[in-house]
Amino acid sequence: MKLRSVQDFDITGKTVLYRSPYDINVKEVNGDLILVDDSRIKATLPTLKYLLDHHCKIVILTYVGRPDGKVDELLRTIPHAQCLSELLGKPVIHLSECIGNRVTDYIAHMNSGELVMLENTRFHVGEIEDDDNFAQELAKNGEVVVFDGFPQAHRVHASVTGIMRHLPSYAGLYFQKEVNALSGIIENPVRPFTVIIGGAKVSDKIEAIENLYDIADIFLVGGGVANVFLKSEGKHLGSSYIEDVYVDEKKGVKKDWVEYAKMIKDKQSSQTGYRSMTNSMQINLQKIQTPYDLLIANAIDKPSEVKTVIDYQVTDVVPEGWFALDIGIQTQKLYGEIIRQSKTVFWNGPMGKNEDPRFAEGSIKMAKAMEDVDGTTIIGGGNTIAVVQQYASPDKFTLLSLAGGATLELIAGKKLPAVEMLRDDN
Ligand code: ADP
Ligand code: MG
Repeated sequence: MKLRSVQDFDITGKTVLYRSPYDINVKEVNGDLILVDDSRIKATLPTLKYLLDHHCKIVILTYVGRPDGKVDELLRTIPHAQCLSELLGKPVIHLSECIGNRVTDYIAHMNSGELVMLENTRFHVGEIEDDDNFAQELAKNGEVVVFDGFPQAHRVHASVTGIMRHLPSYAGLYFQKEVNALSGIIENPVRPFTVIIGGAKVSDKIEAIENLYDIADIFLVGGGVANVFLKSEGKHLGSSYIEDVYVDEKKGVKKDWVEYAKMIKDKQSSQTGYRSMTNSMQINLQKIQTPYDLLIANAIDKPSEVKTVIDYQVTDVVPEGWFALDIGIQTQKLYGEIIRQSKTVFWNGPMGKNEDPRFAEGSIKMAKAMEDVDGTTIIGGGNTIAVVQQYASPDKFTLLSLAGGATLELIAGKKLPAVEMLRDDN
C-alpha cells in the first residue's frame, strides 16, 4: 500500500495541522494529572523533529476520551502538552480551545519552529458527527494536514476525515510505520507466517482471525481464546473463563463463540504451510493449534494452589472449581519452536492471566521466541504490549502497534477511512 508521505512534498515553512495519536488516558498523582503511558508521544517524535527541521509551525490536534461534546476538566490536553514538551525538550503551549478567533490569532503570530497544543476536539459535538462546519473551523488552523492519528484511523470524525477533506493531507512517519508494517503482513507476508492469538475474548478478535485464516500458515492460541477453541473440540475446562454467548434481542442476533470456533476450525484451509513445520514433540500440528498442556489454579484471583495439567489434550480434565490461567511448559516449548521457524509473526492477546506473575510465563516465552525471529515481528493490543515492555526487549520487535481497535480492523482487512484518504495508489 502506498501512502502520500510528508516526505514526498516540500513542507518547508508551512503551518502544519498535526493530527496526533494522543488519545491517551490520564491519572492523578499527588494532585497532578499525568499520562498513564507515553508510548504514543514517543512514537511521534520522529515526525515532529522532521517538521521542526523544515521550519514548520506545528499546531497539534487530538481528541481525548469520551467527553460527549462537553468540557471535562479531566480530559483537557494539558498533560499531553506537558509530556510532549519534556520529551521534545521544547515548549509546547496549550490553548484552551481548538477553534475560534483566539486560536487563529495565536497561530497567525507563531514563529517557525514553535508548537501549540489545541484543546480536546471532543469538547464539541461536531467532532464525532464529522460536522462539516466544525471541520472547516479546525482546518483554518493550518495550511496542510500531517496525519499521525493511526489509532483514530477507523473513525469518521471532524479531526480525522473532516480536516482532510479541506486541506492537502500527508501521512506522518509514525502513521506510515504502522500502516506499512500491518498492511505488509496481510498483503505479502514472508512465510512461514505464524499468528499468536490470546487474551480474554474471542469476540474482540474474530474478524481478524477470519481474515488471517487464509493468509497465515498457523495459529497458536492461548488465554481465554484458547478455552473457547478447546471447548469447541469437546474438551472440559472446569470453571475456566469462557466467553458468554452474545445475544442482541433487538436485532435478533445470537452468537455462540464455541460454535463459531468450531465453524472456523472445520473450514479446512487448502494451505498446508503448517504441515511443513516441525516440532521436537512430534505433535501432528493443526492449522489452529490449541494448547497441549495448561497451568490451572483453584481461583482466578489469589489462588492458593497452582498446578499443571500435563497432556491435557490426552487426559482432557480441568476439574470443576479449577481455572485454566496460562499455557503449560510443553505448550510454551511447542509454540516457541514454531515461532522460531517463522519469518513473519503477529501476536495479539496474552497467553494467560499475565497480571499475576505466576501466569505470565507463557506470554514471556512467546515474547522471547519472537525476539529470536529473523523476520517481521508485530505485536498489537495494550495488554500484550505491556507484557513485552515489562519482561522483554521492545527494540527487538519490528513494530509494537499502538492502536488497539484500528490495528485489529486493518488486520481484519477493513478499509480504514483515514488510510483510504491518505492512499497514493488509487
Ligand atoms: P490485548 O489488550 O493485548 O488486546 P486482551 O485485552 O484481549 O489483550 O486480553 C488481555 C486480558 O486477558 C488480560 O487481562 C488477561 O488477564 C486476560 N486473560 C488471558 N488469559 C486468560 C484466562 N485464561 N482466563 C482469564 N483471563 C485471561
Ligand atoms: Mg486489552
